[in-house]
Amino acid sequence: MPDRQYMRETYEALHRHPELSEAEFWTAEYVARELDLLGFEVRINVGGTGVVGILQFPRPGRVLALRCDMDALPVQEETGVAYASLNSGVMHACGHDSHMAMVLGTCSYAARNKERLAGTLLAIFQPAEENVVGAKAMLEQGIFSTLKPDRIVGIHNWPTLPAGSVGLQEGPITAYADRFKVVFSGEGGHGAFPHRTTDPIAMATAGIQHAFALAQRGADTRFPQTLSFGVIRGGTSFNVIPRQVVVEGTVRTIRTEDQERMIKQLHQAFKAGAHLYGGEYSLEYQKGVPAVINDALCAEELARFFAASMPEVPVVSQGLASLIGEDMAYFLQEVPGVLLLIGSGQEGCVNELHHARFLVPERTLETGHRALTSIVEGYLS
Ligand SMILES: [Zn+2]
Ligand SMILES: [Zn+2]
Repeated sequence: MPDRQYMRETYEALHRHPELSEAEFWTAEYVARELDLLGFEVRINVGGTGVVGILQFPRPGRVLALRCDMDALPVQEETGVAYASLNSGVMHACGHDSHMAMVLGTCSYAARNKERLAGTLLAIFQPAEENVVGAKAMLEQGIFSTLKPDRIVGIHNWPTLPAGSVGLQEGPITAYADRFKVVFSGEGGHGAFPHRTTDPIAMATAGIQHAFALAQRGADTRFPQTLSFGVIRGGTSFNVIPRQVVVEGTVRTIRTEDQERMIKQLHQAFKAGAHLYGGEYSLEYQKGVPAVINDALCAEELARFFAASMPEVPVVSQGLASLIGEDMAYFLQEVPGVLLLIGSGQEGCVNELHHARFLVPERTLETGHRALTSIVEGYLS
């Protein structure tokens, strides 16, 4: 594979220089330079530090967009590899470096085969995926206003799939990832005289129990959904009943009807908890990133391309949905496409995204390149 060495070097260079969400400056410059060298028309500063490369082929045809993400995480790397992060406390622990390497490797392939292909290839390097603001920012800046793709394919490495395989599933693949904050308020006082207080700690514990019960009993069990609390804050001393308790959590669903039901039930649960002890509650609910819904027709097309061009690569097509949030969802609301998972699990290694010892195996780059070039051939030849 002529792009193997190029992808390896790209991956290692990007791995050495991880940058946090919305600050992918070095990365953007690197990517823009590579695209330019490959003969792409390059747009920079799209939605912050985003970069878009455009390659027009000689004959007219479809517009295919490939999307990868650019940001790293506030993790201190512990892999000990020669190309480990040079930026203290920052690491490509989600493998976005490998995504950029795979897309650049595919751009290199497309540039080499330019005369033979038709239509347009759009390579999207999206900033700020981890805090899920990058895709929206690129869309708000009109990334598709002059050139709207017919199809979009995003990639993410997936450690629960073995390296050498890919995951391609139609329908929901990630969740609506929402957050909420509820404040229980009452009248504080001495811990010895609870009868003279309206106790927000009692309200919060009751509210949380009701919320868990309602979320579980109200859920249509055919559709994945969950409720978790991550913060309980209140009080300053063991013998003082506070006036307020703040509780924060997240709701994950794959259907808007479940999302709406959860919001309603959180209100019911917190209201019941507060009123049981004579106090009040206020709930702030923030809808987050929507679910990634893979287009059925597009998934079918890709499955056909893969069967024809890489029949020996296993394609996993079920059991892939998870309740994480991914802002590829915003692109998929505009253009039919899929989030394609590239297996990155390997025996004897840390197979956990966001882990200080997580690395993407060599084989993942190769399989990703094969899958992406087969998509380029499928749509643009
Ligand atoms: Zn991540
Ligand atoms: Zn990621």
